[in-house]
Amino acid sequence: MKVRYSYLQEQFHDQAIDEIFVEIRKLIKTGEFTLGPQVKDFEGRFARLIGTRYAIGVASGTDALKLSLKAIGVGPGDEVITAANTFIATAGAIAELGARVVFVDCNENYVMDVSKVEAAITHKTKAIMPVHFTGEPVDMDRLRSITEHRGQWLVEDACQSILANYKGKNCGTMSIAAGFSLHPLKNLNVWSDGGMIVTDDQEMDQKLRLLRNHGLADRDTIECFGYNSRLDSIQAIVGNWLIGQAEEITAKRRSNAKYYDNGLADLGRHVVLPPRREEALSCFHLYMFMVPAVMRNELVHWLNQVGIEAKVHYPIPLYRQKGLKHLGYPAGTFPVADDQANRVVSLPVDQHVTREQQDYVLNSIADFFKKKGHREW
Ligand SMILES: *Cc1c(COP(=O)(O)O)cnc(C)c1O
Repeated sequence: MKVRYSYLQEQFHDQAIDEIFVEIRKLIKTGEFTLGPQVKDFEGRFARLIGTRYAIGVASGTDALKLSLKAIGVGPGDEVITAANTFIATAGAIAELGARVVFVDCNENYVMDVSKVEAAITHKTKAIMPVHFTGEPVDMDRLRSITEHRGQWLVEDACQSILANYKGKNCGTMSIAAGFSLHPLKNLNVWSDGGMIVTDDQEMDQKLRLLRNHGLADRDTIECFGYNSRLDSIQAIVGNWLIGQAEEITAKRRSNAKYYDNGLADLGRHVVLPPRREEALSCFHLYMFMVPAVMRNELVHWLNQVGIEAKVHYPIPLYRQKGLKHLGYPAGTFPVADDQANRVVSLPVDQHVTREQQDYVLNSIADFFKKKGHREW
């Protein structure tokens, strides 16, 4: 049996393509390829889905983070604190503005360990960017209690966390602005790059609309330097087609995750699941669990060999990457992120994975342990 990681061909089935093409054909007839009515429509739907007053379409998730930081004034000389384990784009967005990336270690949920944030704050800390990594909400209440009396901005990296929920609030609604990604690998995805910023703040909304479009208030009025970072009308059409399914997609991912949780719990002490917290509901962009470091690569290899596209997010923490050496973190600075990098495995958990496929995945993992013999470890 094959259990593929990418489900895009199932999601964008022939009928879906036909429906989307009808709308694209209409767009071509109007020629409004940039910031057309489709973008406005999609922004409205996105804001309603997340529960914010505003949503601003941009060219990518990375730009959503970068423009949000730019709008609150992050620049050279500033420091921005984020999590040691995240996709490179989080750190990249901070670095692109000339600010310094400051990492803090992760917790057992693979996200920022908020108890370590206070020690990382200096007089240069302008903002903190929690990442709801894998779709797991960061402890935002605790984070807010720290920044409220210290005065830093919070900007959520919500790129993996559409409809993830913390104490009844959606991720993206707990900071001045939050960035979402519409990249083909994300839960709500389009046919190329795309991103969305959400905010409740009218001033931020206005600033961000300027920043994404060269600082242009209108064709002849330049308010500030900005970027060319608009969401394509074509991508907004795809987003509009899919967004009605967002709740259903999330529910299916949660149900699949629960099924894996139950199945993996039977496999013994070698399998470690992150704690499932009552106050936090992941949207399971990624389904990750841990095995002992000595087994991890062999297990992933085994699963790949039997047709299951298991993955590792990520094998080398950012701070130990060659391209980030200049940040000056010696190896061993973030022991939890290091340990997780050696132990995590991600399984396909998307809305198109079937129970039959999940059983095959669980049986294959069980077979691996049987084949190796528990004694050996
Ligand atoms: C995908 C992702 C981004 C960047 O989004 P793009 O749309 O690819 O630019 C940023 N942060 C995290 C955590 C991501 O997973």
